[in-house]
Amino acid sequence: MSKLPNVGTSIFTVMSKMANEYNAINLSQGFPNFPVDERLTAILAKLTTENVHQYTPMAGFPPLMHQIAKLVQNSYNRTIEPETEILVTAGATQGIFTTILALVKTGDEVIILDPSYDSYESPVLLCNAKPIRVALKDDYTPNWETIEKACSSKTKMIIINNPHNPTGKILTAADFMQLEKLLSKYPEILVLSDEVYEYITFEEKHISAHTQDFLLDRCIMVSSFGKSFHITGWKIGYTVAPEYLMKEIKKVHQFLVFSVNSISQAAISQYLEIVDVNLLGKFYQEKRNYFQKLLQNSRFELKPCEGTYFQVASYANISNEDDVTFCKKLITDHGVAAIPISTFYSDHKDQKLIRFCFAKDDFTLESAAKKLGNI
Ligand code: PMP
Ligand code: GLN
Repeated sequence: MSKLPNVGTSIFTVMSKMANEYNAINLSQGFPNFPVDERLTAILAKLTTENVHQYTPMAGFPPLMHQIAKLVQNSYNRTIEPETEILVTAGATQGIFTTILALVKTGDEVIILDPSYDSYESPVLLCNAKPIRVALKDDYTPNWETIEKACSSKTKMIIINNPHNPTGKILTAADFMQLEKLLSKYPEILVLSDEVYEYITFEEKHISAHTQDFLLDRCIMVSSFGKSFHITGWKIGYTVAPEYLMKEIKKVHQFLVFSVNSISQAAISQYLEIVDVNLLGKFYQEKRNYFQKLLQNSRFELKPCEGTYFQVASYANISNEDDVTFCKKLITDHGVAAIPISTFYSDHKDQKLIRFCFAKDDFTLESAAKKLGNI
């Protein structure tokens, strides 16, 4: 008897495995392929001989928690208490899972926008709660009217992802005004704000939940150093929540992992003293622009990308096949791996769209674009 009968292997695992088998250029799963900042690896190397190899305190390595509070202060002018409002997690994934497990009860409803990243629905189901999928509009902006219609006294939480994976869409000030209006009618609803790409936005500035006064006492924000420092394999992220919620989240965390990797926490805390996260947006904007330029004469039609390191493209001019079949053939016949967008939809809606990850060195982007340009 499966507790998650409809869950298979994640599309990111499937596509990366297939890319490796066929020696294809992997623009599917989202991870950078360029070297990590040498200052960070030097810190890590030095730490190997220091006394940082035992359990950290349960909620995180204190110097890292202090640095996270400073980061949030500098980025968003919000003061948070390291002791009571921060939890260091094994990536944002564990922050999301732990939060949902701690706060969602049997019979509750959780609103998940469609399309969505794949980490939200399973923890809701494991709580014997009900995911309520609400479609984004065609331009991937939230439809606040339908979201409001989906809300009821059963709604425990709304999950937002800003900037949005896979579409690269970011929320506007008007979106937050609508959310505020909606929440004023439902004082019990919590918001889980997945902001792992918070520093990867381009023409428009990211608006964090941290800056919205109406959210501060009811929002759980998750982020990931994997994205911000090009270290997805380190699996270190953090969750910020008001104390009354964080108390519950910590109860689950202490039995799920107790504490997370000590040396990575120590290294990141030292790195945060010297790194400027505000350079990240420009760095990825150049990558996005370069990738778009490389593909401009291809038969792929590129969609707008406001943030994240993902580019959505339509292949409607190339093939009529569904996007999963198309992505498989892209690997086997053309040597490039991408992610079919239908896998982010609850009903696997096929729109002939795929997602490329452009967090790659220029040579990789050029090699991939050459292959894609020949299709
Ligand atoms: N949320 C979103 C939107 C993501 O794209 C990802 C993964 N890349 C995560 C959460 C998980 O982050 P982590 O790798 O830190 O667990
Ligand atoms: N978040 C990454 C992506 O969207 C994948 C992470 C994973 O493989 N779980 O591609």
